[in-house]
Amino acid sequence: MNKAKLVNERLHRLKSLMSPCRLCPRECMAKRAEGETGFCKTTDTIKVAAWAQHRGEEPPISGINGSGTIFSSNCTLGCFFCQNFPFSQLGNGRFMSAKELSQVFDKLAAKKVHNLNFVTPTHVVPMLLEAWLLASPEAQKLPIVYNCSGYESAEVVELLENIVDIFIPDIKYSNNQVAAELSKCGNYVENNRKTLEIMYQQAGGLQLDNEGMGTRGLIIRHLVLPENLAGSEESFVWLKETLGVKVNISLMSQYFPAYQAHQHEIMRRKVTTEEYLAVLDLVEKLGFENVFAQDPTERGGA
Ligand code: SF4
Repeated sequence: MNKAKLVNERLHRLKSLMSPCRLCPRECMAKRAEGETGFCKTTDTIKVAAWAQHRGEEPPISGINGSGTIFSSNCTLGCFFCQNFPFSQLGNGRFMSAKELSQVFDKLAAKKVHNLNFVTPTHVVPMLLEAWLLASPEAQKLPIVYNCSGYESAEVVELLENIVDIFIPDIKYSNNQVAAELSKCGNYVENNRKTLEIMYQQAGGLQLDNEGMGTRGLIIRHLVLPENLAGSEESFVWLKETLGVKVNISLMSQYFPAYQAHQHEIMRRKVTTEEYLAVLDLVEKLGFENVFAQDPTERGGA
């Protein structure tokens, strides 16, 4: 079915899920259309922190011309170590109307980016799609990338079927106590795992066009943390048992202490090269076949 038609059909339900808000599993029930805010400190107006022709994503996403990234302000998680804290946690950014945001999409399309990449979209997905409806045909024909924390509402992900082309969620933790301590999210694991299963059912493995660019599928990101706070082994064993070894994984090495992380006994240091390579070794031993790995000595590893 035509994507614009699907967006038109589902936007009403997505907006109703925003007020009272159940757009993410926190289910704050804030009446955002009436100016109330929940955990993510956002009403029904989108604030955009930055947009860019970004070349730092995985190769099938960035390609040569870059990914058209749109960073929204605020977040459904409260990670005290977030590298993007000026906008994810402190809310820096600028309010944009649907028309203004659609013009951003058009400008990115004019730069020949390979996709429109919604970064931290969960709490503002109705506004992103409303703007997308006003964008040019050139912008609308780009794949939509949904670049999220993986802490998602099952219903919202289901409403995005055949609208989002490529899902890039995180698998951050395998322990809710750690998730509560580091990201203020005590029900991350079960919601994250359900999210990943639905996304994989919908989009499947990463599909590429003739030029090696992603057109559809799922890439699961995992950021290695100091002293295995991310619970990497448990997450990858679960992934293997549940989604299988063909699922696309992006193993990230770039953790460094940002925002308030210097106050934490463990998180106040970078991930070492040895810690990253141990997880990479584990992923290979488990037999995962489609892994994007980084050079930890180039990406912030100590
Ligand atoms: S999107 Fe924001 S307001 Fe809505 S449930 Fe999640 S944190 Fe709460």
